[in-house]
Formats: sequence, C-alpha cells, structure tokens
Amino acid sequence: MSNEKQTIHEFDLNIIHDYFRNTERQGPGSPEITLKALSFIGGLTAKSKIADIGCGTGGQTIVLAQNTECEITGVDLCSVFIRQFNQHAQNQNLQDRVKGVIGDMKNLPFQEEELDLIWSEGAIYNIGFERGLSEWRKFLKTGGYIAVTENTWFTEERPTEIQDFWQEAYPEIDTISNKVDQMQKAGYLPIATFVVPEACWTDYYEVQHPQMQESLLEKYNGNKSAEEFIAYQRYEAELFYKYKAYYGYVFYIGKRIK
Ligand code: SAH
Repeated sequence: MSNEKQTIHEFDLNIIHDYFRNTERQGPGSPEITLKALSFIGGLTAKSKIADIGCGTGGQTIVLAQNTECEITGVDLCSVFIRQFNQHAQNQNLQDRVKGVIGDMKNLPFQEEELDLIWSEGAIYNIGFERGLSEWRKFLKTGGYIAVTENTWFTEERPTEIQDFWQEAYPEIDTISNKVDQMQKAGYLPIATFVVPEACWTDYYEVQHPQMQESLLEKYNGNKSAEEFIAYQRYEAELFYKYKAYYGYVFYIGKRIK
C-alpha cells in the first residue's frame, strides 16, 4: 500500500468517527474483560465517581454502570460518539448517573482528587501510556484505582514487519514488564495485569466487515483520506492475523497509594 508510513493518528477524524459510530465498541474489548478488570477494584459505593476516558459510544461504560452504583462521566473528543453515548445511557435508564461529555484527555475537566476510579479501554495511546498515567494521577483520590488497556509486546523479539509497523504507529508499544515498571514509576501500586483474549481483537476486526468499509468508501466517493483509512484498517487487520502471537492488548490495573 502507498501509505505504509501514515499512522492512524493522521487520518481525518470525521472519517474515523463516521466509520465507527454504529459499532458497539471502537476498540478491542468485551463485557467479560471489563468485568474481570472491575473485579480487582475494591471499595466502590454509590458515592464513588468514575471517569471513563476515551469512552467512545460507551459499550464498556454501560457495563461499568450496570455493575456498580457509581456516578460515571464518559469523556471523548468526538461529539458524534458522545451523542450516542448519552442515548445509550438513556436507553438503559442510567442517565441520572451516567453522563458523556465532550473533552480532551490531555486537558480533563476534573478536580484534583475527585475520582475513585479512572477507566480507559483502547484509548490511552492517544496521550501515550506514560503521560496519561502520570497526568491523570492527580485526579484520583489516594486509594483510587486506574484501569487501562494498552497495546503490548508479548515477546522480547519479533519479526521485523510487525516491529516496524507498530514502531511507526505507536512507538510506546513495549513489553508487559516494562509497562508495569512505568506504572510503578508513575506513582501507582500495580495491582494486576492480564492479557485481553484474542477473540476481542478478532471480533473488533470482524465487525469492520467489507460492507461497512464499502459503504464508507461510497459515502466519501473519491476522497483519498477515506481510501487510505480503509486500506490502513485492512492492513492492520491482516498483520494482526499474521502476527497475533507477538502482541495484543493487556489490561493494567493500578492503585494510587499516596
Ligand atoms: N473506549 C472505547 C473507545 C476506544 S477508541 C472502546 O473501548 O470501545 C478510542 C477513543 O478515544 C475514540 O472514541 C476517540 O474519539 C477517543 N479519543 C481520541 N483522542 C482523544 C482525546 N485527545 N481526548 C479524548 N478522547 C480521545
């Protein structure tokens, strides 16, 4: 393909948002893994506050809401996703304690020590794992938790093709032990890590079926950015099936202890 050097971050955001707005999730994940991660987090009550950062249309937020009594704020840069998010909350009759707001994870609308839990599935890469962990910590109360998923190498070494692809797309990709070390250095007690099952990725890629891709191409007929975005999605999926033994998402759960 012609755009091997282009990263997902450089595509027209409107196209990305248009593409993903009717999918339940905008990244690899599932209700089961959200619940598994939640099982490591103690002490949540009806008074606790959760922020779901880069919440998308709120697939995982609804799971959090149905399994806690907390007040939850979803934050996402994309207004289309936030509109869907609030609609989903309303459909589940959760609108009194689940709200989506448009906002930037680089400039979050929270007070210091306001939150009991920060959640972020498939999104912290937009600020970078280390920067996100370190900048978001101040919003947590002492004893509060953070739970994020992050793309991670499973092996010390890997084939050049996949090494080069992710090095270009997300240079912060690293091994589990290095990520845990970064979490500790950012001021958290690492509580748990677990590998997100492969099926979450295959589901994520299968949802992006050829019809969905063709209809985007039709809508943006002749638009080079849309064509390159779809080509990139296809290439990323192709590489995943070829090299999934070498990388994937990992859930990292940490606790602010001071
Ligand atoms: N958590 C959801 C969505 C993951 S996709 C899920 O797992 O399904 C990543 C999300 O991050 C997208 O919704 C995108 O709009 C959002 N995002 C990207 N950059 C952002 C930023 N700077 N601030 C807030 N959200 C951002």
